Amino acid sequence: MYGPYVTIDLEKIEHNARTITRLCGKYGIEVTGVTKVTCGMPQVAKAMLRGGVSSIGESRMKNIHRLKASGVNTSYMLLRIPSISAVDDVVSSVDISLNSELSVIAALSEAACRRGRVHNIIIMVDLGDLREGVWPDDLLPFVREVIDLPGIRITGLGTNLGCYGGVVPSEANMNQLVAYARRIEKKFALKLEYISGGSSNSLNLIASGKIPKEINNVRIGEGILLGRETVHRTPWPGTFQDAFVLYGEVIELKEKPSIPIGETSEDAFGRKPAFVDKGERDRAILNIGREDVYIEGIKPIDPRFTILGASSDHLIVDVTPAEKTIEVGDELAFSLNYSALLAAMTSEYVEKRPLRGGKSI
Ligand SMILES: *Cc1c(COP(=O)(O)O)cnc(C)c1O
Repeated sequence: MYGPYVTIDLEKIEHNARTITRLCGKYGIEVTGVTKVTCGMPQVAKAMLRGGVSSIGESRMKNIHRLKASGVNTSYMLLRIPSISAVDDVVSSVDISLNSELSVIAALSEAACRRGRVHNIIIMVDLGDLREGVWPDDLLPFVREVIDLPGIRITGLGTNLGCYGGVVPSEANMNQLVAYARRIEKKFALKLEYISGGSSNSLNLIASGKIPKEINNVRIGEGILLGRETVHRTPWPGTFQDAFVLYGEVIELKEKPSIPIGETSEDAFGRKPAFVDKGERDRAILNIGREDVYIEGIKPIDPRFTILGASSDHLIVDVTPAEKTIEVGDELAFSLNYSALLAAMTSEYVEKRPLRGGKSI
């Protein structure tokens, strides 16, 4: 492989998972480790499980199948609400799915009955973020419809915040979630096993000790993989932020002016770039492009370097302050944010290199 590659430090992921699961454990919260940004990479799921997560959360069936085929034996939670066309697969392959549509749950019920199984669902309630979830006013009538469906067990109530509307988990909205759960339990004489409170955006609330004690599950991806909470994206204490590092190779290194010569129009992506005249600069071209990664989400690890721009296959980096210390053929390293990691893990052009003890395995 001659393309860019991402190193995946499995020990750092395990360590991060342990830090997060210990914190949550102190408050009686179990952690579902979310692997979707890694496209369900089996080694990553295993590292999370060694670090103490109690189950794996995934948004795509294809990833769940890959994980199971690779021997990741655990309980699986399907995070993206199922499509009707997928119900047979879901009841056969997934332990718990998150749900908000009656017609889908009815189809899951039929599929479960056909297979002689019982499928567990967590009903999602929308507390204002406006992505998935039953509107609170509709919750009790909704549960009343679901409760008698054969082959379906309501195992919990959950909510998702911070994904569309950017709503922050708070003591108030978590208390609301608990109150809805209690109302359902009372009205329908059932016990909800899970109250699933949120994602990496819940970490601050958990650490502050203010999350209601009834919340007993969170679904955490970024906090474990990139070591950040997701309200302010600050590094989480006791975690690594560099479990994933992107590397590309210098394929051209030349001194050139800062400003293009001749009449300029749009670039390859329909944008009209602006240029600042800094005189002649040392410019490295790397074999990384927009087909590999979300360029705006990567940052050179060496602070002397600045990204100037990128096209599909070329990344241009100003390396002037490090002049004479690099040459064609050298590799430069970059950190990744969530969007960049998602793109890099999804791109077939980016090699994935799991590390253990700092070495490729
Ligand atoms: C992706 C996802 C999560 C995990 O989000 P992070 O920000 O990576 O912790 C949790 N819940 C649902 C429903 C998701 O889709």
